[in-house]
Amino acid sequence: MTTLIKNVHVLTMDDEMKEYKKGYVLIDEENISAVGEWKEQNIQSDEVIDGSGSLLLPGFVNTHTHAGMIPFRSLGDDVPDRLRRFLFPLEAFMTKGLVKASSAYAISEMLLSGVTGFCDMYYFEDQVAEVCEEFHVRAVVGETIIDMPTCDSSDHSGGLSYCETFLPKWQGHPLITPAIAPHAPNTNTNEALEKIVEMSKKYDVPITMHVAEMDYEMKELAEKYGLTPFGYLEKLGFMEQPFIMAHCIHMSEDDIALTAKYAETAKIAHCIGANTKSAKGVAPVKAMLEAGLTVGLGTDGPSSGNTLDLFSQMKLFANFHKTYEKDRALFPAKEIVRLATRGGAETLGFHETGSIQPGKKADLIMVETESVNMFPIFDPYSALVYSANPSNVQQVWVNGRLLVENHQLVEHDLKQIRSNLYKQMDKFVAEAKKRM
Ligand SMILES: [Zn+2]
Repeated sequence: MTTLIKNVHVLTMDDEMKEYKKGYVLIDEENISAVGEWKEQNIQSDEVIDGSGSLLLPGFVNTHTHAGMIPFRSLGDDVPDRLRRFLFPLEAFMTKGLVKASSAYAISEMLLSGVTGFCDMYYFEDQVAEVCEEFHVRAVVGETIIDMPTCDSSDHSGGLSYCETFLPKWQGHPLITPAIAPHAPNTNTNEALEKIVEMSKKYDVPITMHVAEMDYEMKELAEKYGLTPFGYLEKLGFMEQPFIMAHCIHMSEDDIALTAKYAETAKIAHCIGANTKSAKGVAPVKAMLEAGLTVGLGTDGPSSGNTLDLFSQMKLFANFHKTYEKDRALFPAKEIVRLATRGGAETLGFHETGSIQPGKKADLIMVETESVNMFPIFDPYSALVYSANPSNVQQVWVNGRLLVENHQLVEHDLKQIRSNLYKQMDKFVAEAKKRM
């Protein structure tokens, strides 16, 4: 099956950041087979889409989220220490069915906003992987390990034994990368962290973890080991494994220099919305990038960041980093769109995606410019960062398959996904109300 998209403004995100104002892209099965200027060439294709007035770009990549946490959205948003008052206690009421239903909802929401790939960290990740497979999205799927009993294990660090069956089961899947997701450096034992590094080597899978997010995490590790999280994780061997570090808010110049030595393996999932909503701080992304680190954007979970789309993150990224560095010209819109697409793909190891080039996998989105918020457009990147929102996403392809058409899911019914989730939420809602 081939699909020709013509008369479309193509933003390739390739090394030269090439653009074709009246361009075309040919999709052949899973792959992009041709891209260029549209000159009414004689190209045979099973399907032809006229993209007049629209922008075509690589799909957004959400580098850090918790798809199972939709039930927590808008609960106790402004409460101090929300993690220990709401999140940890209510997590006991998460079931396999609820995580599955929540993940289906979260993936629908991401697809409708142009997210074609993401990195997840939660419990029951075997079910999350099943939903990813069913929805045909690209994902790194990480089972959480934490030094306490959890909803999917009565043992402390129960995720370790879960991973022994979960990792080999999904290894080698074309769209799904199983991963190990230690919750944070200070919420795991030294022994568990050592085992995690061994397991990452044994199964050749990435690790994803919250790093330098909490001020008490910094304090605890300094008191215990005299190290920052980065120094501690380096010592344990994390930096030499494929390692997706979420947040990295409290990162000193020395930490950046240390991490930059492992730039090939250690990457950063930057979650500006969640970090600033919780008043935790602004990560030093300018310095990270200058040191040669790879950075992608992430929303964090639906409880921390509330939305799962990257339009909101791009805007917050611009606002906060320009203010933080007191430099209006810093991070032009083009660079922010690059971080949200190609930067994310590089962060998650999705090397076959991230740009529109022949031979790459077709993870693409088409954004319409007919809506009231999209006029006029002097600069397409500015329009994407500052004017657009998820409702402008018209079509979405993952690995060559059309998953969103005319703003609707092609293969799934959102109403049904939502009512299924709502049915599963009874007990959770009753427990949540007791704590409000
Ligand atoms: Zn998180």
